[in-house]
Amino acid sequence: MNGVPIPMALLAELTHRCPLKCPYCSNPLELTRRSNELSTAAWIDVFQQAAAMGVLHVHLSGGEPASRRDLEDLTEGARAAGLYTNLITSGVGLTRDRLKALADRGLDHVQLSVQGVDAETADRIGGFKGGFETKMRLAGWVAEEGLPLTVNAVMHRQNLDRLDETIGMAVRRGARRLEVANTQYHGWAYRNRFALMPTPDQVRRGGRIVAEARERLKGEMVIDYVTPDHLGTYPKPCMGGWARIGLCITPRGAVLPCHAAETITTLSFENVADRPLADIWANGPAFTAYRGTDWMPDPCRSCERKTRDWGGCRCQAFAWTGDAGQTDPVCSKSDRHADVRAAAVAEAQAGADAFDYRTF
Ligand code: SF4
Ligand code: SF4
Repeated sequence: MNGVPIPMALLAELTHRCPLKCPYCSNPLELTRRSNELSTAAWIDVFQQAAAMGVLHVHLSGGEPASRRDLEDLTEGARAAGLYTNLITSGVGLTRDRLKALADRGLDHVQLSVQGVDAETADRIGGFKGGFETKMRLAGWVAEEGLPLTVNAVMHRQNLDRLDETIGMAVRRGARRLEVANTQYHGWAYRNRFALMPTPDQVRRGGRIVAEARERLKGEMVIDYVTPDHLGTYPKPCMGGWARIGLCITPRGAVLPCHAAETITTLSFENVADRPLADIWANGPAFTAYRGTDWMPDPCRSCERKTRDWGGCRCQAFAWTGDAGQTDPVCSKSDRHADVRAAAVAEAQAGADAFDYRTF
């Protein structure tokens, strides 16, 4: 692993199965069926390999990870490997007893996704009746178990005007951390961009609300803010840089540099069943393709920000230009920036509110 960075985090997508149908879901358009999911033993072997590589924490994610009946065994296996375990859940599929069993078997943290601040909005966006009530109940159980809670709120045009209320809800539910994650436009979200894209006014207001809330809630709740970068000046350092600090494994065992990487159809991804994880991380072609700065074209190559944002998001570059090796077109230095911004503004103004829900 000489010269190769040590990954800190593993996103383990245990399954793509989920009762919800969010129109911005980060799972791919082609979802993996249950029959092709990695077995319990295969996942536990992955956790052990990851820990040996230096990974510190695992995000047990999906789909809805509670759709796997062996979630308790997987949690225990990850903990036994020495990993800090974070469960990323929609809350649907977890009973009070199951949550207690997870806590007893080593779960360290819960991250609960919310789609809106009331049942009508949240259940419409998530495409699942009763989801909101279930989530709120789960938040109470998490507090009873003494587990730290992060609330993850994916924001877009149809809920951004209620950001203040979303922050209030997270505080009332006892969250220590709130992720205000503006939708990232690839996969399902790209397909639904006309229904999701926020207006520039909403984005400006949202930024102000987050700044004020951070000040007000200092010491009580931390707020992470994922900005909608197509309306900004520079891109985010997506994943902290391609193949630098984290990796993702899909339900069937494909190893990805980021959870959306399969949207880049010009890359191919190796499987944990075929090659040791450390070898894939260090030498796999999908990992070496955009690691570091050598791959960068201008304007990134000669830019002073290249080790701050690592050229932005490869998936975004591919979605908008058809070439993952281009400068992220949301960057104001990209010659595609004006087109991307104009397209985003037009999509936001199109006023098309109907969702094309995620389906199996
Ligand atoms: S984004 Fe929605 S549909 Fe996708 S896995 Fe999460 S809860 Fe399920
Ligand atoms: S030119 Fe490249 S490195 Fe510079 S700010 Fe834009 S995306 Fe980042």
